[in-house]
Amino acid sequence: MTDADPETLAERVREGELRFHELEERADHDTAAAARRLVVEAETGADLETIGDYAFPAEAAEPNVENMIGAAQIPMGVAGPVTVDGGAADGEYYLPLATTEGALLASVNRGLSVIDAAGGSTARVTKNGMTRAPVFRVDGVAEAAETVEWVEENFEALAEAAESTTNHGELLGIEPYVVGDSVFLRFAYDTKDAMGMNMATIATEKACEVVEAETPASLVALSGNLCSDKKPAAVNAVEGRGRSVTADVVIPGELVEERLHTTAKAIAEANTRKNLIGSAKAGSLGFNAHAANVVGAAFLATGQDEAQVVEGANTITTMDAREREDGTTDLYASVSLASLEVGTVGGGTKLPTQAEALEIIGLRGGGDPAGSNADALAEVIATGALAGELSLLAALASRHLASAHEELGR
Ligand code: NAP
Repeated sequence: MTDADPETLAERVREGELRFHELEERADHDTAAAARRLVVEAETGADLETIGDYAFPAEAAEPNVENMIGAAQIPMGVAGPVTVDGGAADGEYYLPLATTEGALLASVNRGLSVIDAAGGSTARVTKNGMTRAPVFRVDGVAEAAETVEWVEENFEALAEAAESTTNHGELLGIEPYVVGDSVFLRFAYDTKDAMGMNMATIATEKACEVVEAETPASLVALSGNLCSDKKPAAVNAVEGRGRSVTADVVIPGELVEERLHTTAKAIAEANTRKNLIGSAKAGSLGFNAHAANVVGAAFLATGQDEAQVVEGANTITTMDAREREDGTTDLYASVSLASLEVGTVGGGTKLPTQAEALEIIGLRGGGDPAGSNADALAEVIATGALAGELSLLAALASRHLASAHEELGR
């Protein structure tokens, strides 16, 4: 038996001669994962047969996970197709969604089919900027003001330093914030088709070297939480982070009644009282019904960073009954996702499963021009979120939400 045998490797881990993270130095990635499973199975009594039954070479996941034992297989469904008239998206799209929530695909699919019957959605990315906000220490307010002034007067030098680290990223702006003897600089980048968090972090580190050399400020932390990554934060809901994207549709009254079994007025009222008044009373940052459901399921399917679903929930849904001249009433529906952080290159998008899901949408890899694929992905996900909002609000307005969950989710 050699080191490359899972049993031998597992034994050496149990003896304390090898640690979990050292196994890839002794064997190929699949063997290392098998050895870890043996150790975990022996120590916990859990049977890891399904976790170990993954369909891609473990080596492909090396940049994405450490101490790999297998894969978490989440059921994936598809909703659509739906026509999207976007700034970048253009045509018919299927939306792959990975979820464990029964009824979600059915709900989104129902919403998409109504949107499609109404002629499709219109969607636009209205702002784009991935942010990183380092925090610096200064002596006090005078030094803080001196630092901010220097940064404002030397944007070009900072952009040159930041952009020296990337072929794609562009520094768009730097927003300074001062709190006593702390100075925060919120750097915003166009990261093209990458979600861009690594890209922005590496570029900002280089720019910080220039700030430290030219001002009294000392860097304390490369991320000072004003970015703000993976935490509920008003700054993202107001200023945006990643893509700010809006999708809307006007649904003829007859279609609302035929397909959603309610009226535009009832849906608009449910939206106002629930998503606007209820959310305001709750102090919520998300004025929507369940945008995070679609964002989360689309993120898992397409290899986005799932923790950034937090920012994706910063969504405002509007629904209005629009009177027509003939006396009938149409439904205007929109979603505005302030901070949707998506990419079609980098991160988890390269994993075989997630790359296939991006193929379904036709948006795998870099776009031409660069950034257009990530813009289009944002517009398609926003259309999915719009569908989810429509379907859920219609279910509430027609009062059959509980029965739908009973039929489909149990
Ligand atoms: P990445 O995988 O680190 O890098 C993607 C790279 O792809 C870019 O830097 C770029 O190289 C290259 N690229 C090729 N074609 C491109 C195109 N058309 N548009 C844009 N870039 C293109 O991905 P990332 O998006 O910067 O970061 C995502 C990862 O960051 C995820 O795995 C996520 O989990 C992780 N993350 C990191 C932090 C952090 O604080 N560091 C926080 C949250 C998440 P060039 O730059 O050389 O042009």
